Amino acid sequence: MNAIDKLNLLRSGKLTVTQNVKSFLDKIKKENPKINAFIDVRPELALNDAEYLDKNREKLKNKKLFGLCIGVKAAINVKNYNISCASNTLKNYIAPYDATVIKKIKDEGGIIIGITNCDEFCCGISGEKSAFGVSKNPSAIDRIPGGSSSGSAAAVAAGFCDIALGSDTGGSIRNPASHCGVVGVKPSYGLVSRYGLIDLSMSLDQIGVISKSVSDALLVLNVIKGRDERDATSYESKEIKLEKLSKIKIGIPKISVRDERILELINKKVREVCEANNWKQEEVELKHINLGIQTYYPIVYVEFFSGTRKFDGRRFGKKIEDSCGEEVLRRILGGSEISKAEFKGTYYRRALKAKEIIKKEFASAFEKVDCIVIPTVPKLPHKFGEKLSVEEEYDYDVCTVLANLAEIPAISVPAGKIDQVPVGLQILTRRFDEGKMLSIAEKFE
Ligand code: GLN
Repeated sequence: MNAIDKLNLLRSGKLTVTQNVKSFLDKIKKENPKINAFIDVRPELALNDAEYLDKNREKLKNKKLFGLCIGVKAAINVKNYNISCASNTLKNYIAPYDATVIKKIKDEGGIIIGITNCDEFCCGISGEKSAFGVSKNPSAIDRIPGGSSSGSAAAVAAGFCDIALGSDTGGSIRNPASHCGVVGVKPSYGLVSRYGLIDLSMSLDQIGVISKSVSDALLVLNVIKGRDERDATSYESKEIKLEKLSKIKIGIPKISVRDERILELINKKVREVCEANNWKQEEVELKHINLGIQTYYPIVYVEFFSGTRKFDGRRFGKKIEDSCGEEVLRRILGGSEISKAEFKGTYYRRALKAKEIIKKEFASAFEKVDCIVIPTVPKLPHKFGEKLSVEEEYDYDVCTVLANLAEIPAISVPAGKIDQVPVGLQILTRRFDEGKMLSIAEKFE
């Protein structure tokens, strides 16, 4: 059942909050050992909150998330939970505070049902880099669930929670949403406060939503968005609303993907939606669309290196270099190398320049079209055990990093299946045009 529909049951009392929490806890207890979506669940905390909401239902029932259960990626601080970033470094770190998004969710009657698995420090595309073991893909059990927000997508797909939060630096919400067959939204940079999110790359990171439907994502986005004094990059914004759409023009850029079948599936879907709604599609030119990866990784390496200096073993957990996995170490060493004084910041600055160019190209494309549609991931998720080179892994990100570089919103919605495996498509709009993006996404749903 979608969260929006369940909200009515919870508000009327036909379903108590305690019943909702208990049924998820039971399911998690039974099925999570197979899926490994959750890595920290504390029934007493969730049940306590549920009891409070049930006792005060009359007073609180109009809260926007009354009694809904939310899974939270292990990179977002939730007080009294182990926020490990799925790493050995922070294996014993118990968060002493709530991230701003968590505070907002709790204020609106949402219940944190548990902490979800991810690639270590959000670095990855498959979930296989977690120090807590990989999550399984409930929609294609022999394949990776995608990453880095692997547990959040798996939890929603498996029915372990109503909604989940993830974080997205270069695709970590949209990629697993696509592979698990659910909806994933990366908001515009600055729409949602990052306070309390453990950084991968502070100029690209955004917290966003993974859900079963577009309208569920809208519900949560309206709760978590907004200016926050504690995050200087966050903006005030009006309520996001679904719009009446007419005469929409969908832009289709040329983008190279590994698996042609994915493009075929997406083109077919675009044709169907255009026919049904009397919309048009046209080709748009984004000259530097194939430079995403080369632009993205230098920025991530440098910012990640800088962000991880606080994990020196004195304040939180262990020293990161002594306790992390291969991919995290690669980024720390790479970031430290290209940040060296002798290079005078050349690589970082060049990457920022390229980022600016990509951002401008998108902005001018949006003068001609309302949205851009591209695949979410260029290939099907690989099977467990398949070995990929670093380049092949980074290649998974070609279609998703673009929105982060351009600072615009992007949503992945299911487009269909190939070989029984879910495939998502992405819709991108102008910065802070989430209303239009979600309205278009509903027609694809
Ligand atoms: N796969 C990309 C990376 O490893 C994206 C990660 C993310 O969005 N957190 O950096």
